Amino acid sequence: MANKTLIIVESPTKAKTISKFLGTDFTIKSSYGHIRDLPKNNRKAIDIAEGFIPHYEISKGKEKIVSEIGELAKKADKVLLATDPDREGEAIAWHIKEACGLKNPKRIIFHEITENAIKEAINSPRDIDENLRKAQEARRVLDRLVGYDLSGLIWKKVRYGLSAGRVQSPALRIIMEKEREIRAFVPENYWVLTGKFETEKKDTIILTCEKEPTDERETNQILEIGRSNAWRITEIKQSETTRSPRAPFTTSTLQQTASSRLGYSPSRTMSIAQKLYEQGLITYMRTDSMTISKEALPIIHSEIEKIYGKEYLEPREYKTKSKSAQEAHEAIRPTKIGKKIAGSSDDQVKLYKLIWERTISSQMADAKIFKTKVSANIAEKELIPNFSVIGSITAFPGWLAADKEAQGEEIQIPKLAEGEALKLLNLDSQDKQTEPPGRYTEAGLVKELEKREIGRPSTYASIIKTINDRGYVTKEGKTLHPTDTGEVVSDFLEKYFAQYISDSFTAEMENKLDAIADGKERYEEMLKDFYGPFSKDVKSKDKIEKITNLGEADPDIKCPVCGGRMVIKLSKNGKFLSCANFPKCAGARKMDGAIMEGPKETGEICPECKTGKLVEREGRFGKFISCNNYPKCKFIKKSPEEEAKAKTGVKCPKCSDGEIVERRGRFGPFYSCSNYPKCDFAMNSKPTGKICELCKSLMMEGTKTIPERCSNKLCANHNPHKLDK
Ligand SMILES: [Zn+2]
Ligand SMILES: [Zn+2]
Ligand SMILES: [Zn+2]
Ligand SMILES: [Zn+2]
Repeated sequence: MANKTLIIVESPTKAKTISKFLGTDFTIKSSYGHIRDLPKNNRKAIDIAEGFIPHYEISKGKEKIVSEIGELAKKADKVLLATDPDREGEAIAWHIKEACGLKNPKRIIFHEITENAIKEAINSPRDIDENLRKAQEARRVLDRLVGYDLSGLIWKKVRYGLSAGRVQSPALRIIMEKEREIRAFVPENYWVLTGKFETEKKDTIILTCEKEPTDERETNQILEIGRSNAWRITEIKQSETTRSPRAPFTTSTLQQTASSRLGYSPSRTMSIAQKLYEQGLITYMRTDSMTISKEALPIIHSEIEKIYGKEYLEPREYKTKSKSAQEAHEAIRPTKIGKKIAGSSDDQVKLYKLIWERTISSQMADAKIFKTKVSANIAEKELIPNFSVIGSITAFPGWLAADKEAQGEEIQIPKLAEGEALKLLNLDSQDKQTEPPGRYTEAGLVKELEKREIGRPSTYASIIKTINDRGYVTKEGKTLHPTDTGEVVSDFLEKYFAQYISDSFTAEMENKLDAIADGKERYEEMLKDFYGPFSKDVKSKDKIEKITNLGEADPDIKCPVCGGRMVIKLSKNGKFLSCANFPKCAGARKMDGAIMEGPKETGEICPECKTGKLVEREGRFGKFISCNNYPKCKFIKKSPEEEAKAKTGVKCPKCSDGEIVERRGRFGPFYSCSNYPKCDFAMNSKPTGKICELCKSLMMEGTKTIPERCSNKLCANHNPHKLDK
């Protein structure tokens, strides 16, 4: 029998693409993403005292894949781990090796899924790179420790359920800093003056005053002098400028351009790009390199000659400031530049087009643009500022031929001569106000994170997604607005943990992770150096007072119930005004002063904790009834419709009176008697209505492979697949 090789990848699409290039001697198996992770429970997750040793768990539902890979590996002569070519891919490869008990598997690396790249990679396997996978482990452990400790403190000091994180919090801070700039901004008035003129050849031309006065008197003076005098052209200045193409896409510039041109969020862009990559259409999409491989360049160059002609070609090299030479990737480019259109969905086709245009244009000649500046003034003495216009005409499009959207609007200017008289048709002013600085778009924030060196190609998209998911920012149109909650959390962290969420600290941590990847720093030392002082700092904040209110309300606004003073507080839905006598008085208003209906008591006692009272509250999805002991008791009463849906129609076998109904518990749905708390019968899965032939207990729904099983754990029919048939 011939040698058999098992190749393991993390995605089924990738497996399918690779299998097209390889013969029957190869088996390609997908792990369907991560197979292990840190457990949710923090105490079990990381053994800090023993040197920050993480204890991983097989992810839920992955047990089958793990044993399948183990079985396949036993039958293979050689095992190759072909996960993605970065630290995360290295870590997944290592996890697969550990979890599946692989003996001496090899690692192969490729940056594009093409026949050549795959075959070359198979011919040069290496061992798993311990430095790379350790760097990834350090990031995971670091983020877990910081997130856990900071979030825990915020729960105690600000509000239950909030979160903070090592990289999400600096990003939120950057957004808040801009917000404060906007609030502090004082708009100024200014005037824009425009004149419409007729030339000697009867063409019309519009000129704008080069000075924008901030004073109305000066504006009126210019208008008056301009309207009562003859005009002439004082100068015509011609110049030629060039525009150079931009470097091929990195992760960050791809996200920025896809956001501004296609309106895609960074995480959407990444998932589309991943699909293109897995189909073998583009090179790996997580990269900060601007380099195009020596093999790809000549093909791109001849494609440019073929489509546009020789004069459009200009071979260029782009310098990458990438830090870890070890992971030197390539820029994002099509694997086959001859393919102008590719992708299996509308999204993919659009993103591919963007990548194709950027790759091609990056190797093309500069665009040449002729500029003409026409200046005019009154004929006599130049008592007022010049009025002018700048025309621009593309003399040679160069790279703009491949990237038409990058071309600005052309402004044509009629033929004119210096000294030529102009006939004023009208002269007007428009009063305007200076604008505050703009809020960040998602693309702008990615650019800012990259500039400040916080975050990496693998993290930009997830940082933005996290602050969105946490409700710390909302996207309005294209811009990110901080929410009340986001502001309170950022204020808290900036006050007490300024150092840890600073640019310099965050960038330094990224550098240290790079150093681990390069083998220049040790995992345990790096974490110890950080975590010792950090955890001490967190503990020292244990005594600070809980932030119960965010300041006084306008003294004219009184409590709608008792007429007392009101204070600003933070609820799940943002800021509101609460009676200062809370909890004695529950009076509340919205920030605009409108009265808020407080929770109304229904008169029932909570069936779960038996001490709380049920109250009606207003939630995001309308009114609901819950226990006033929340968050200690999480009981939520079902509406009549939900109640009807929860019915199973199966009689309770214990009291023979109640019916089994679905309930929601902390660990998901479970099924119990409708006579609860009088009858305590309960089971884990939905009863099917049938009775067990062996023990007469209720039968219940099973798993995919065992459709039905006995609810009695001691009955042999609980595991019917093990019964002798
Ligand atoms: Zn009150
Ligand atoms: Zn309760
Ligand atoms: Zn019962
Ligand atoms: Zn049974």
